[in-house]
Amino acid sequence: MNRRQLLYSTGLGLVGAAVVRADAVLTDSSPDAKNPPKPLPLADFVPRSMLQVQETHVPRSRFPLIDIHTHISVSSKSKHGVELAPERQYLGTPDELLAVMDRKNIRSMVNLTGGYGAGLTETIRRYDLAFRDRFYTFTEPSYSLFLKPDYPKLQAQAIEQAHQDGARGLKILKTLGLYLRANITSGRLVKIDDPRFDPMWDTCGQLNMPVAIHISDPVAFFTPTDRFNERYEELNHHPDWSFYGHDFPSNAELLEARNRMIARHPKTRFIVLHVGNFAENLENVSENLDRFDNMTVDIAARIGELGRQPRAARAFFDKYQDRILFGTDATPHGDDYPQQVFEDKLYEIYFRFLETNDEYFDYAPAKVPPQGRWRISGVHLPESILRKVYNGNAARELHVSV
Ligand SMILES: [Zn+2]
Repeated sequence: MNRRQLLYSTGLGLVGAAVVRADAVLTDSSPDAKNPPKPLPLADFVPRSMLQVQETHVPRSRFPLIDIHTHISVSSKSKHGVELAPERQYLGTPDELLAVMDRKNIRSMVNLTGGYGAGLTETIRRYDLAFRDRFYTFTEPSYSLFLKPDYPKLQAQAIEQAHQDGARGLKILKTLGLYLRANITSGRLVKIDDPRFDPMWDTCGQLNMPVAIHISDPVAFFTPTDRFNERYEELNHHPDWSFYGHDFPSNAELLEARNRMIARHPKTRFIVLHVGNFAENLENVSENLDRFDNMTVDIAARIGELGRQPRAARAFFDKYQDRILFGTDATPHGDDYPQQVFEDKLYEIYFRFLETNDEYFDYAPAKVPPQGRWRISGVHLPESILRKVYNGNAARELHVSV
């Protein structure tokens, strides 16, 4: 079944038709009864913009960049959203990645999902050690140990071991808060500020390892997948991304638990991914950045959000220019997620967003905008800010020099 058939079979076509019919009622006076307006399925609606505006092609970033948020390896085994094995699956070979990196001016890729144990050391051997400073790998928690009575201590020791093995930081997937449960894959959801993780956060602080943390998800994922949902097509295509109902906490509850945890660990550095996990509300992200000195954010997979509020986004970049890191969420061969597929075109869109004044362009290389049907405008950052966002801020957090 291809994507279009899927959309039809899951009811998208019907919604499209319903919308047009409602419209027809409103324009009741118009066409003659013999030729009523034809329903048009939403999936078939791909309007071509008639705007004639500046189109700037930016093939290389203005400065060498560190992509703080990529996924080159992933866990080979997970259940109900929880990774359960150290073994890794590799999504791209160093050679194919380096070719794109050299063309786009990508100095380094940070592979956040390096796992732990043998999987981690193998990943570091294949990438970080084979191509110095081109790849950095982060470790992840060993949730399979979660039920052991001394888990807090074991997890802290695992972080120390990962540090010795060459891991540059710790990555927390949205598993924490949305998937990890009292009995790992069953029972009540475990809270983000559960004290059993305290030694893990503290150890990261002691070892100068930043924590890249993804909490919650776009706010629309917590609302019903219906015709009012601005990310309807995306959720319809990935129904498992919806966190509406069941026993899921609200977005606000997740962010509050995260904030309580960050407040408790002022000596640990947190890179709060996806624009602090609330790109739809820059005022909220700003409040948290003001509150927590140990917090920075990346922009991965959220230029769609930033670029549809370009004036607020530009002010945000001005004010927090020392706290924003370049990231994409790039995944080699992640063809099902056009907003994060690792390829030249993806990076060129990020460069266009950051460096130009262009208006109304696609935020992802896709026929239909994959994260909501809108387009974005660039924020045209000055060189001084570009330099920090492309590499300065990340170099500081990773303790490397560019
Ligand atoms: Zn990611």
